[in-house]
Amino acid sequence: MFSTSVIEIKKSAIKHNLDYLRSHLKPGTQFSSVVKGNAYGHGIENYVPLAYEAGVKHFSVFSSYEAYRVQQELEGLPHTIMIMGEIENEALSWAIENDIEFFVFETERLEKASEAARKVGKKAKVHVEIETGMNRTGFAMEEIKHLAGWLHNHEEFIHVKGICTHYAGAESIANHVRVQNQKMYFKDAIKLMAHCGIHPDQRHSCCSAASIRMPEMHQDLVRIGILQYGFWPSKETLIEYQSKHKWGDDPLERIMSWKSRVMNVKKVKTGEFIGYGTTYLAQKDMTIAIVPVGYSHGFSRSLSNIGRALVRGKRMPVVGIVNMNSMTLDVTDVPEVEKGDEVVMIGNQGALSISVSSFGELSELLNYELLTRLPKDIPREIV
Ligand SMILES: *Cc1c(COP(=O)(O)O)cnc(C)c1O
Repeated sequence: MFSTSVIEIKKSAIKHNLDYLRSHLKPGTQFSSVVKGNAYGHGIENYVPLAYEAGVKHFSVFSSYEAYRVQQELEGLPHTIMIMGEIENEALSWAIENDIEFFVFETERLEKASEAARKVGKKAKVHVEIETGMNRTGFAMEEIKHLAGWLHNHEEFIHVKGICTHYAGAESIANHVRVQNQKMYFKDAIKLMAHCGIHPDQRHSCCSAASIRMPEMHQDLVRIGILQYGFWPSKETLIEYQSKHKWGDDPLERIMSWKSRVMNVKKVKTGEFIGYGTTYLAQKDMTIAIVPVGYSHGFSRSLSNIGRALVRGKRMPVVGIVNMNSMTLDVTDVPEVEKGDEVVMIGNQGALSISVSSFGELSELLNYELLTRLPKDIPREIV
């Protein structure tokens, strides 16, 4: 294998997580698997077929490029793809032709979609996004009447498949009031649309955190990203969940393990500095192991002197600065460590496990960011 590290994807964990998450939905709620950010680092091409095999038929992405990649994997199989973010005007005809659904948040995109639909000879399936307080994208309440009029006039080319919104930080209790307001605002927007004679097929607003915290908002569809990969949106969400479920174990399984090998072992004498500069001074005679994984591979530079990795079943601290292509671990306490030993950056080894979340907190990056920064060219292996 020509790669300094590999990402293993555990097939049985995918099925386990999806079954678990789907069993908690309100009857009739559709599950959409969010696979933006290269399926949160797991690889669209690896994850999508396995999720499909586990029964997922609905996938959500950010861009038309991601939609294209999902579509390539599911050619000829019944499925739905929904673009939640940006679709370029040039991609509209392709999307409409292929029944790919997309969010709309401005009349300009609707106009273009309608033109494209006329040319293609098929209706565009759109999800009207409502601005409820995130202040990113979406139609404001004041625009709804005008929008409804426009939609009536363009019925021939536009099918209103959904009405939707997104919460601004449902993973944190600190945002409770803001999210509650968004919820009310969204319900009002749905009512106003109905009052104007527009009745979308699906209403949806929940991401992972919202689906756990506000099951009453499951509505017709939930858009689940991080949870299906076995990670929690925040520590707070997990703790709150456990408090409601008799403090049981984390019900989800991590799908990913990220592994490398020791490339060199070295002795360092008291008083020497390790790596670039002077950030780490050996306070004792030490043994260190060099691992060929650095920030260019997604192991954040901010883990310098604070990250951890597993070797020989033990947690070893990162010492010195994480380099572009390598990092150094202090293995003094385990003298048998040798070149070629397995190193686990994410996942289990022996009885211990390293979660993205644990080093995520250390580096003050969220799971989301660490996962999606894992480069596409690290090979993914299904196990
Ligand atoms: C990313 C995203 C989701 C999924 O978020 P998770 O927290 O990973 O579940 C849902 N909806 C929208 C609009 C998103 O952008």
